[in-house]
Amino acid sequence: MTKIGLEIHCQLTNLESKLFCSCKANYREFEPNVNICPICMGLPGSLPRLNQKAVEKATMIAMALNCSTPEKIMFFRKNYFYPDLPKNFQITQLNIYGDTSVGGRGTLMVGDKEIRITRIQLEEDPGRLIYEGSSEKNQITLVDYNRAGTPLVEIVTEPDFENPKEVREFLNILSDLLENLGVSDPSLEGAMRADANVSIEGGNKVEIKNIGSFHDLEKAVHFEITRQQSLHSRDIPIIQETRHWDDKRKITISSRSKEEDLDYRYFLEGDIPSIRIADNIKEKLKSEMPESISSKKQRYVSKYNIPPQVADVLSSDKFYSDLFEDAHTVENAKEVANIITTDLMGLVDTREKRESSKLKSSHLKDIANSIQSGKIARNSAKNALYEIIKTGKSLSSVISEMDLGNVSDESELSKIIESVISEENQAVEQAKSNPQTINYLVGKVMQRTKGKADPKLTLDLLKKKIP
Ligand SMILES: [Zn+2]
Repeated sequence: MTKIGLEIHCQLTNLESKLFCSCKANYREFEPNVNICPICMGLPGSLPRLNQKAVEKATMIAMALNCSTPEKIMFFRKNYFYPDLPKNFQITQLNIYGDTSVGGRGTLMVGDKEIRITRIQLEEDPGRLIYEGSSEKNQITLVDYNRAGTPLVEIVTEPDFENPKEVREFLNILSDLLENLGVSDPSLEGAMRADANVSIEGGNKVEIKNIGSFHDLEKAVHFEITRQQSLHSRDIPIIQETRHWDDKRKITISSRSKEEDLDYRYFLEGDIPSIRIADNIKEKLKSEMPESISSKKQRYVSKYNIPPQVADVLSSDKFYSDLFEDAHTVENAKEVANIITTDLMGLVDTREKRESSKLKSSHLKDIANSIQSGKIARNSAKNALYEIIKTGKSLSSVISEMDLGNVSDESELSKIIESVISEENQAVEQAKSNPQTINYLVGKVMQRTKGKADPKLTLDLLKKKIP
């Protein structure tokens, strides 16, 4: 049986400052090597100060993943020499004197399958190495320390996955969960990275490092299973090793560095005392946690009668569910959900489009209410939505500017209906004996008004005029 386990690194991108100093956690907006200070550069004499919010957010992640959270947490130094690590050690966590990382032994459901979480630890991100140059010979490596010390949560799973598809599903669910918690924006470049370990029946465990996107992770795992199966079928032993994912060639390659053999000389970080997280603090954090995705989904289905598939899509994406929460009332909930999932999702399908969108929840509310009251047809609503996303204008001005309003004036509609009746003699005769035919006439009126006739009023008037 194939066994796959994951180590996921997730940056706490929504925090203000780094893990042990007051430099900005959002390092992305800076020129290289300016978002730094003596602490994150590890200068002699500097002392780390632990970011309380980072501990709180990491504990929330642990709780959301059904982990047990220890009474006290500790930090350790992981020693290794590498240019991206200015201190020559990374401050991280280690469960060697009992469980002292922020969380352990949790679970996350992927469909009907339970994936076990081994542990969750809080640590600092190293700096960023940037490779330049076209070939290996003239390649240079640049280092940017703006990222050094950024709060990172490592989530380690048991080897519970059996195929790449399960891995991908898990990562999607996990990133939705982290976004919903308000701790991270997984769509930011480098915010979520992962290592995977893969073994097939009768073979050794191989670790794949350096995978920068979920899409690549799925590919890397797939490649590695195929590679191992191919070796196995030819009776070539699968050696235990670390391999790197080459995202240009889309293959894994044996790593020349023997990181698995390195002695990291872990020892307790003496500059940070062990931190006690009292029960009342945990209770407070729990009460501050936003409603979970599964609970939202259930509420959408049971309270508003929204179909489960629609509720699923709506609840799992924070951008859309926030809009829904602000725009809906008990009466219009189904309509708002419908507009978001059938029209809006197609119009703002990228991060850039979401960011530039001028749509507010009040617009959505107006559109839903106007559809329900017959002021605007569904088809026209989509055009109005498109315009509002671009301009941010009010629905009423968009309706009048683009002439999108329904024909709901009785005398105006009567005239149109009468002209349709006079032209459609045969259908009118049939409608007298076969009530179904009346829909054909409604269609004709819709055609004449370019879909803007109030459908209910049209039907009522037609029924009156054709006894
Ligand atoms: Zn700093």
